[in-house]
Amino acid sequence: MESKIQSPEYAKMSHATAISLGLVNRRMYRGAVNRCVNLLVHYAEGCSANCAYCGLAKKRPGTYQEKSFIHVDWPIYSMDDIIQTINRAPAYVKRTCISMITNGKCRRDTLDMTRRLKAETRIPVSILISPTLMDRQDLIDMKEAGAEKVGIAIDLATPELFDKYRGKGVSGPHKWEKYWEIIRAALEIFGPLTWEHTSWSHG
Ligand code: SF4
Repeated sequence: MESKIQSPEYAKMSHATAISLGLVNRRMYRGAVNRCVNLLVHYAEGCSANCAYCGLAKKRPGTYQEKSFIHVDWPIYSMDDIIQTINRAPAYVKRTCISMITNGKCRRDTLDMTRRLKAETRIPVSILISPTLMDRQDLIDMKEAGAEKVGIAIDLATPELFDKYRGKGVSGPHKWEKYWEIIRAALEIFGPLTWEHTSWSHG
């Protein structure tokens, strides 16, 4: 039976965001704050890619529930609770960023989450996109849904390294050319690059 605890009704939230928003009772070193609400789409079956350095890669041992990007918890909350929490967040919280994974349901559900965040919160929404799943129309749909900007994490600096660690070398689906095709389309649709850092490297 398919779990009901999945996107678009639920999302994972980074541990640092959960601390900053008061959802997890911990303190950040030297009073640091996380200005971005980092969300990650969530499905029981997880990501179908195999990026060599990623804790969520399909071939890593263990169930998806036991895996983590970066060796810390990513607690799951309902979107209702996330939206309520954003709306009472401290003024230093300036943006929400939804991170996609490589999962066929992800495009539809990311649009749904973007529309809700746009309509029900006052801070801008970014999407860290998964180019492998997408075409130009998806970018247009994201903009129309309310995304202010998108991030695209290539992660590797040359076509050879990309193929070795994200593509054929790890039996993964990602292709260097596809990433650049989507970057070019995103530049046309969302405008030129900015260097504001809103999320972690992923996609
Ligand atoms: S697509 Fe993203 S989540 Fe999936 S394995 Fe690669 S880096 Fe990790």
